[in-house]
Amino acid sequence: MRVAFLGLGIMGQAMAANLAKAGHEVTVWNRTPGKQIEGARTAATAAEAAQGVEVVWLCVSDTAAVESVLFGESGAEQSLTEGMIVADSSTISPSATRKFAERLARRGVQYVDSPVTGSKTGAESGTLLFILGGEEQTIEKLKPLYAAMGKKIFRMGEVGKGQSAKLVMNLQIALIYEGFAEALTLGAKLGVDAENLMPLIQASMVRSGVVEYKAPFVLGRDFAANFPLKLMSKDIRLALEAGKEARVKLPGLETVGEIYEMAIEDGHAELDYAATLLLLEKWAGVEVKGQAA
Ligand code: NAP
Repeated sequence: MRVAFLGLGIMGQAMAANLAKAGHEVTVWNRTPGKQIEGARTAATAAEAAQGVEVVWLCVSDTAAVESVLFGESGAEQSLTEGMIVADSSTISPSATRKFAERLARRGVQYVDSPVTGSKTGAESGTLLFILGGEEQTIEKLKPLYAAMGKKIFRMGEVGKGQSAKLVMNLQIALIYEGFAEALTLGAKLGVDAENLMPLIQASMVRSGVVEYKAPFVLGRDFAANFPLKLMSKDIRLALEAGKEARVKLPGLETVGEIYEMAIEDGHAELDYAATLLLLEKWAGVEVKGQAA
């Protein structure tokens, strides 16, 4: 298929590369120029990238970025014509998603919110999970593209529901990781080495995908971004906003959200979200040591 891929960050770069590898005709664009993808054409603007394609795919930071890439100066909207499809793999506000989709529907353009889970390794290996909101017939047309970038799709309902489900997923990731980080910190203070703790965690019902993915990085003291802390903080804010709109109290997430804000104030915004551990360690006056099991 002819696809414009807009946004070549940690996720977008790998996703666009997998589309090109699968034989799709890909044109890429990134706000900061200089990024290229093997087998893909590079455009100078989002509008230029979107000219004459069947599908426009986005993967940028946040709601404001999606709005600007679609509707800003030299945005993709200028090139959108009836029958085209916009798929958004950024994690953004569900209510803004519905507004973007309504605006595009007036031009005869279909919209599928398509946020992902699986992080950098999932994007690189083409094993992402796509969490979708949109019409079934539209999703059907996109299946070859989902297959090139991921291993499974989950349709959650109409437009916006993909983003809502994604926020519900990241709420859990943030809380599960924070539980792990607090456990490691208390363990260290009480003299229980992470090295001894890990096999116990893995053998018990405490084990989880989040812990399995993060433990080798954390215990290797590698806090380089797989999923930047500032972006998880953005997702926590989005979930809290959604909770507020729906009158749902989220006390655990509120507290974890404050920890993220303080971690950002401490200069950890660009590190992985696993770096919230650094704040807990600082408060406790310990450093977690050990190797992953
Ligand atoms: P990233 O590496 O920080 O990349 C962000 C991308 O967005 C870059 O291409 C950046 O362009 C672009 N961008 C930011 N603001 C923009 C604007 N105003 N206009 C145009 N482009 C803009 O982030 P990422 O990790 O790839 O994440 C992208 C999205 O996927 C986010 O919504 C994130 O929450 C979601 N996500 C990430 C992961 C993960 O593990 N990393 C997993 C699931 C979902 P420049 O190069 O010009 O800065």
